[in-house]
This record gives sequence, C-alpha cells and structure tokens, in this order.
Amino acid sequence: MPKAELQYLTDELNKLREQKLYQKLRILETEQLPVSRFDGHKVINLSSNNYLGLTTHPKLRKRALEATEKWGVGSGAVRTIAGTMSIHMELEERIARFKHVEASVVFQSGFTANAGTVSAILGREDVIISDALNHASIIDGCRLSRAEIKVFPHKDVEACETILKEIAARKCHKLLITDGVFSMEGDIAPLPQLVELAEKYGCIMMIDDAHSSGVLGRNGRGTVDHFNLHGRVDIQVGTLSKAIGALGGYVCATRDTIDFLYHRARPFLFSTSHPPSVVATCIAAFEVLEEEPQLIEQLWANTKFLKEGLKKLGFNTGMSETPITPIIVGDAALAHEFSRQLFAAGVFAQGIGFPTVPQGQARIRTIVTATHTKEELTQALAILAGVGRKLKIIE
Ligand SMILES: *Cc1c(COP(=O)(O)O)cnc(C)c1O
Repeated sequence: MPKAELQYLTDELNKLREQKLYQKLRILETEQLPVSRFDGHKVINLSSNNYLGLTTHPKLRKRALEATEKWGVGSGAVRTIAGTMSIHMELEERIARFKHVEASVVFQSGFTANAGTVSAILGREDVIISDALNHASIIDGCRLSRAEIKVFPHKDVEACETILKEIAARKCHKLLITDGVFSMEGDIAPLPQLVELAEKYGCIMMIDDAHSSGVLGRNGRGTVDHFNLHGRVDIQVGTLSKAIGALGGYVCATRDTIDFLYHRARPFLFSTSHPPSVVATCIAAFEVLEEEPQLIEQLWANTKFLKEGLKKLGFNTGMSETPITPIIVGDAALAHEFSRQLFAAGVFAQGIGFPTVPQGQARIRTIVTATHTKEELTQALAILAGVGRKLKIIE
C-alpha cells in the first residue's frame, strides 16, 4: 500500500496517463550511435545531441581510459577543497584559449553552469531580461537569484528594448540573457542586436551556447564567433555534454568574473568535481574540434539534406536554422502518437509537449548528426513520410 501522504503523486501520474502524456524512459542498449538499439528495436536515432559522433570517438575513448589508469575514477572532493586536479585546470585553460577569452570555469553540467552563474552574480535588487524560450537552467538560475525577471517574447528585439527603456533609470545590475541556439526550435538568437542593446543600456550580456558549441562558428566556437562578436559578450556558457560528447558545462568570461564564480557559484563550491576520465575526454574533444573540421562540415551537409527533405514532404519545421529540426503538429497527444508510430517503424524522434514547449505547439524533434549516412537519412525521410501521411500530419 502506498503511504497516504504520497497518494497525490500517483494521482498526478494517472492524470498524465489519461491525457496520453505519460512517457516511459526509452532504454538504450548500445552505444549512442546514428543507428542504435532502444528497447530491443534497432532505430535510426534522431534524438541524441551527439552532433559530431564524439561519444564513441576512438581518441576520446582512449584518453578516458588512460586518465582512469593514471588518476583513478574520482576526484574525491569539491573543487574548492581538494578536488582540483591539474587536469581540471588544463581543461579550463584549453577552453579559454579555444574561445579567445581570458578564463573559463568548468561545472558538473551545462545546467549547473547556467543556474550557478546567474544566481551567483545577481541579487534581489537586480533585473534579468530574458528571452521567453530560454532554457530551464537559465530560468532556475534567475529564480534562485531572487532578481526581478522580465521576459521578452522570443527573439523580439524591439520588445526587449521597450523593457530596457522602462528600467533605464533603475540603479541596479541588469543581465540580458539568451540561448544562442534554442533547443526546441533550432533557431539562432539575434545576438548582434541584443549585444547592441546591452551596450546601449548598460547590461551584462550572457549567452547560453549549449547547442552552438561544436556546431556554429569556426571549429565550433559558438555563436559569438559565428557573429564575430568577440569581446562584446561578457559571459558565455557552453556544454560538454552535447557536441563535446561527454558531460559538463563551462563559463567563459574575464579572469575576475571566473575568480568570483570560484568563490560564489554554489554548484562549484558544494558539488564534487568531474572524474578525471571525463576531464581528459573533454580535453581530447577540443583537440578533435581543431583537428577534424570535416566533422562540422558533414554535420551541416546532413542538416541541409534532412531539413530540405522534411520541407519537401510538407512538414511544418518552424523557424529552424540548425541541426535541430522540430516537426510541429500542435496537439501533444498527436505528437506522442507520431513519435510512437515512428519508433515502431524504425525512427526515434522524441515527442515533446507542454511544459517543455508552449501549449498547442507540441512537436517531435529531430536532431541530425555528422555520423548519419545519406542512406540512413533517406530511409528516415521515407519512414517520416509514411507515418506522417497515415496520421494526416501531411498530405
Ligand atoms: C542541454 C542544455 C543545457 C544543459 O546542458 P547539460 O550539460 O546537459 O546540463 C543548458 N542550456 C541549453 C540551451 C541546453 O539545451
């Protein structure tokens, strides 16, 4: 018998089941590959963030094993006590050089990098100006900071300026914050215009490049490099969990900003640092970004191929400009049914509904990687066409 005090959780789950929104975790039974086996089914995998196929790159695998041999499996402490190994410093220096910034700090995840940074640098008297579709980790960071949060409609530069004018006289710290590439839409932030606004109205400018690192800019340096805005974005967050293929997040900024985070960012202070194998893997990944630019070229060639194929079939792919291409169907139950039938037919594309995306904008999301072959993508398009027609999503 469940404890009475917990019954409300079961009730909530039953509601999800009734609304056909209950989701079982898919279990991956192979490596993370372009064609993988999930729940006993071999499927074309359009759901991973493994943009460059680095999760199984031989160089990264080898470095992880070597680091485990040399340093053991864990760091044994938080960074600020005994958990800063020389390879942690090497990774931070490597990232700072790669991004052409003074310094960087590595967190346990992109999530903690965002949440830990925003909550550390702002307080109750301050204001955050945030795009409506910013990632959950930014939103949580904003809430934890206790600053006032002002949300502007997605990518609406004019609305953003209206807010900035309204608060122009306020004497406080102001943070203008946006995702570089939006994770559910696959579109790119209007960064040049936002940077101008930040400069005009005296804001700290911060960008979350989780889906742009390893994807946009020279050798995958991200949106700041893509738009040539070096020196004009104060804080850049990136993830080590997506294109980089391992796990972690990082913040790039001035030396003093990073030193401040060493002293005040709570995940850095109160949660154990990365195991050496992960750190070594990430260092190797940044080498690969510089040594194998053809991976990023292939990613974009595949992106163009799949996107054009989807559009030709008549799917609504929204505003996507990157390897993330949503297929918007509107109704959440339909999106999940679409995803289920695709899976049975051999394509894994996750269904996504409220609250991850706004009501009425439910979708499946496809993410293409550099390692998908043209044959695999052609086959995926054929399956998408068949199921799409059957469910009357396309004609
Ligand atoms: C995935 C993601 C994160 C979190 O990164 P993790 O390293 O997976 O914690 C942060 N921001 C955005 C926009 C993301 O898509």
